[in-house]
Amino acid sequence: MKRFEGKTVVVTGGNKGIGLAVAERFAREGANIVVGAIETDCDKAAEQLKQHGGRAVAIVCDVTRKPDVVALYDAADLHFGGVDVSIQNAGIITIAKIEDLTEKDWDATIAVNTKGVFLCCQEAIVRMRKSGKGGRLINTASGQARDGFIFTPHYAASKFGVVGLTQSLAKEVAQENITVNAICPGIINTDMWDYNDRVWGKLLGDYRPGELMASWVENIPMKRAGTGEDVAGLVAFLASDDATYITGQTINVDGGLIMS
Ligand code: NAD
Repeated sequence: MKRFEGKTVVVTGGNKGIGLAVAERFAREGANIVVGAIETDCDKAAEQLKQHGGRAVAIVCDVTRKPDVVALYDAADLHFGGVDVSIQNAGIITIAKIEDLTEKDWDATIAVNTKGVFLCCQEAIVRMRKSGKGGRLINTASGQARDGFIFTPHYAASKFGVVGLTQSLAKEVAQENITVNAICPGIINTDMWDYNDRVWGKLLGDYRPGELMASWVENIPMKRAGTGEDVAGLVAFLASDDATYITGQTINVDGGLIMS
């Protein structure tokens, strides 16, 4: 029997990057997957996930909009009879000097990265409570929830917020067999990092493509960038029976980049 057979896992942003690697990990381990993503072609991810032998659906969903989030969890109910694990992974970043950081970017970043996590946790908890089966919530923060980097005050604020809401919710549901944890990926090779490399690279000096990332990777004790699979290993552990007594925690997955 596979580890997550019979379990249903909702993954926001599960159509690409870290989220897709996480969804694939659960699909390989037997789970039913519900992907929620902003891209209108996110159903391609569901087709990819089905190749691992499991069942998967994808819903176009903006995590900043309550009706979209309700529809996402309705899909989990409709197709698979509920949600067991909810992974709040969807996120965005922009990078700008303070004088160029627009209110629009500030609001959008907080809306997706923090309010989106709140709305999904709220919906998941209400349904897990109703089912009486408990469940697992895993919220994606960032190394920037430990140490704010330059030119991203809005992103750092949004991710510190994720840690705060994780701790608060973990306390609220601790006696209901629901755990709530946060993860802090470091430098993970995805589209988001391509953007980071380009824009930070321009603002911090005259870096050529890939150069900034390479120099930051030099600061990682393990001397390599992370992969989606590295993150998926931690998420699967937190969703597993081995993590029953772990809640309210924030765990780095970054090759040792940040050790606090
Ligand atoms: P990515 O850009 O490859 O993917 C982002 C995902 O978020 C996409 O699937 C997209 O559909 C989804 N998304 C964005 N806005 C959305 C919205 N309004 N509603 C629903 N979905 C939305 O990024 P990634 O690198 O895979 O990042 C995934 C998560 O990990 C993010 O929360 C990010 O902040 C965090 N993170 C990434 C890194 C890294 O180095 N890549 C490091 C630390 C934290």
